[in-house]
Amino acid sequence: MLCQIIPEKCIACGLCQVKAPNIFDYTDDGIVIFKDSDQLEQTIPEKEQEHCLAAYQKCPTRAIILQKK
Ligand code: SF4
Repeated sequence: MLCQIIPEKCIACGLCQVKAPNIFDYTDDGIVIFKDSDQLEQTIPEKEQEHCLAAYQKCPTRAIILQKK
């Protein structure tokens, strides 16, 4: 599973980190970044996919995009 984030769409609501704390983190302004990378896309390991899917579903602005690989 490939996950992309679109910081321009993020409204800093914090939900994605509640759902997938091992994947998402925030800048000082609360805008989404990946926890382990400064890239805008990342391959999500199997054990985190369910959490990442929950974050994707909760994101109110569709700032998270998921793609099956
Ligand atoms: S759930 Fe969406 S809008 Fe909220 S912090 Fe995460 S990426 Fe940003």
